[in-house]
Amino acid sequence: MVKPTKPGEPPLHKVIMVGSGGVGKSALTLQFMYGDFIEEYDPTKADSYRKKVSLDGQESFIDILDTAGQEEYAAIRDNYYRSGEGFLCVFSFRDQICRVLDNDHIPFILVGNKCDLESQRKVSARDAESRAKQWGCPYLEASAKTRVNVDESFLMLMRKIRDKKNEAGKESEGTEKAASGKCCVLL
Ligand code: GDP
Ligand code: MG
Repeated sequence: MVKPTKPGEPPLHKVIMVGSGGVGKSALTLQFMYGDFIEEYDPTKADSYRKKVSLDGQESFIDILDTAGQEEYAAIRDNYYRSGEGFLCVFSFRDQICRVLDNDHIPFILVGNKCDLESQRKVSARDAESRAKQWGCPYLEASAKTRVNVDESFLMLMRKIRDKKNEAGKESEGTEKAASGKCCVLL
């Protein structure tokens, strides 16, 4: 498990990978982390990762929690979801997240993975886009295999988390919440 950053270190944004088994959550995470496509990854393994990235020129950390089905147990799922500041939903966990967090304004993006398998597509881009519109979140088509939109997905989500923290900081300047950099909806 990753350790928290010390004061004075770059900001840290916590992302949770959600979505059904087999959609490519681990493959996207590992491609983003190590620049490699891992074809076979233990489908039962949940793990967390930390990486330093340049976010619009500012050094920042990203923590990624790659979930793996254990979220079927309510207690584990709630814990996962409370610890996240943003969600990268690789088709289609949205309802449960809303129920747990009861908040529509949590940073969230919808990612249609495996876009290299266009010929086997079941969900049309139009359907995915209209779902994303309904949820008020961006939609990206990505491939963990060919690295299309992998960095873009994670960076887009980090930006949303950062902007939300900045907004929360402005609203409650000087308070402990703002100083801790935490996303207040999760407290
Ligand atoms: P998870 O259960 O959501 O973590 O899914 P995995 O990351 O373990 O991926 C499930 C399967 O889909 C594996 O066999 C991967 O090799 C494959 N896979 C994941 N991402 C892609 C992709 O972008 N393109 C293709 N062609 N296969 C992928
Ligand atoms: Mg996995």
